[in-house]
Amino acid sequence: MNFQITEYCHHILEEYIEEGDICIDATAGNGGDTEFLCQKVGETGNVYAFDVQEMAIAHTRERLEKANLSARAKLIQDGHEKMQTYVKEEAKVIIFNFGYLPGGDHKIATRAASLTAIESALNLLKKGGIINLCIYSGGDTGYEEKEAILNYLKTLDSKKWLVIVNSYFNRKNDPPLPVFIYRLK
Ligand code: SAH
Repeated sequence: MNFQITEYCHHILEEYIEEGDICIDATAGNGGDTEFLCQKVGETGNVYAFDVQEMAIAHTRERLEKANLSARAKLIQDGHEKMQTYVKEEAKVIIFNFGYLPGGDHKIATRAASLTAIESALNLLKKGGIINLCIYSGGDTGYEEKEAILNYLKTLDSKKWLVIVNSYFNRKNDPPLPVFIYRLK
């Protein structure tokens, strides 16, 4: 197994995704998570992918075309905080990959305003579903977003939500934080 954050998270998420599921990629970026979700939901499933950057949507579109998966995805160039405007069904898995687009404009990073987006994702999550957050800190992104998100997650009702925060405990230089929020039955 590859222990990069994306692969590590996919490894956990793939246990849960079933053929026909609805999933959301809240930060499409270069399309890696969107492609993963499209593969897992199968021909009868659907994936909604959001990104505010035209370049990210273009890269994701290209990637899905190459993989012959375009029919399973709806690509939306808008902020993930508005996901409830576009998604009217409950979702099984919702992925947020915070930070900036690799190879893109570092100024367009996700911000502490992401809390609104996480709240929307909680509203859309199916029972037994998972929200995965990959949180970066340090570098261009700073620590503010990480702190804001972790403080918010602490306040979630433990009867309804299980929040698991993983860490690359013995790695230096602000390793990313894989977080899983489970909606309990
Ligand atoms: N740092 C990650 C990639 C993050 S990509 C990695 O190393 O793989 C994060 C994406 O979120 C970027 O493409 C950016 O355009 C997008 N983004 C920023 N704010 C957003 C918002 N409000 N809604 C949707 N996407 C957003």
